[in-house]
Amino acid sequence: MKITEVKAHVLEAAIKEPFSWSFNSASKRGSCIVEIVTDSGLEGWGECFGPPELNAAVVRAFAGYLVGQDPLKTEGLWQLLYEKFRDQGQKGLVVTALSGVDIALWDIKGKHFNAPVCQLMGGPLRADVEAYATGTYRLNHGDPHDYVVKEAEGYRREGFKGIKLKIGFDVHADASLIRAVRKAIGPDCKLMLDANHGFDTLEAIQLGHMVADQDITWFEEPVIPEDLNAYCEVRAKQPIPVAGGECEFTRYGFRPILTMGAIDILQPDTCAAGGLSECKKIADMAMAFGVRYIPHVWGTAIGLAASLQLLAVLPPMPLRLTPREPLLEFDRSEHPFRQAVVTQPIEHQNGRVRIPTGPGLGIEVDRDALKRFSKAA
Ligand code: CA
Repeated sequence: MKITEVKAHVLEAAIKEPFSWSFNSASKRGSCIVEIVTDSGLEGWGECFGPPELNAAVVRAFAGYLVGQDPLKTEGLWQLLYEKFRDQGQKGLVVTALSGVDIALWDIKGKHFNAPVCQLMGGPLRADVEAYATGTYRLNHGDPHDYVVKEAEGYRREGFKGIKLKIGFDVHADASLIRAVRKAIGPDCKLMLDANHGFDTLEAIQLGHMVADQDITWFEEPVIPEDLNAYCEVRAKQPIPVAGGECEFTRYGFRPILTMGAIDILQPDTCAAGGLSECKKIADMAMAFGVRYIPHVWGTAIGLAASLQLLAVLPPMPLRLTPREPLLEFDRSEHPFRQAVVTQPIEHQNGRVRIPTGPGLGIEVDRDALKRFSKAA
């Protein structure tokens, strides 16, 4: 089997209600979807996290190295592309583009062997996974104490047992909102905080102390991702477990995080940190350091399916009769084509999501939807 073509589909759609997090706003959703075509008739699909046009440019630059190659050589092709671009591409867009390519190659491999990717990565350890709701972004109007609290209550009613709250705007306003949300959702629901690196070290430490009595599961991206000393300080000087890693890349990027003890819960994005091949390695490294691994997920159902295949093989740590299972981040913010790109949407039922069992990623891509949401269209 040989690769005959590598395509990058740039999808984009405006959203009805623009929303913000600590440092940015969205008025549209976009994604770069990778399609790898082979001479056997099999095709593979992947997704890259981050700016779609820039990812597409890198994927197209990769194509010359991929056409004519055996797509089953996932490890060799990852290494080839990484080494070709190593000097300027150890982090960021080169690795996000490589992630989409790697996921597409695994999709082909699964289809070739007529098995879900998780079967080829060691075999599934679970059939479904607990999902937590990501949402609570800020709107251009209204009081977050009103609409964010209502949104969180809605996730509770839908059956989610964990909710992640966006903070990083102002320490005092955030602390007040955290208390209001905790009161509304009750004591039996996990509550996570995500500052999207909106604080400096002192603010993050202050916030952690202010809400220490609110049973917070983790404090995500308290400070900027490149400052690991700041992460260590936040981790040491306030009581809430620190999570992060959605802006880090490859085994080499995660190594200092682990050796410095900067983070309690590692959150690599499968569509960004290097794809399925690399994220399995990072997960194994995290296990060796006794650090929890809960992937960041924020794309279409294609990226969601890839994340689920990895979640299927993450071992409970430590093994015990009542294992602490990994969690799926389940983005609930407005996304016009999140589920439209596949023929069978990946939905939750009472806060749990089934791991697709079909060959490869276990999804079928809807080509009409790709055309409909294509930026060129
Ligand atoms: Ca985040």
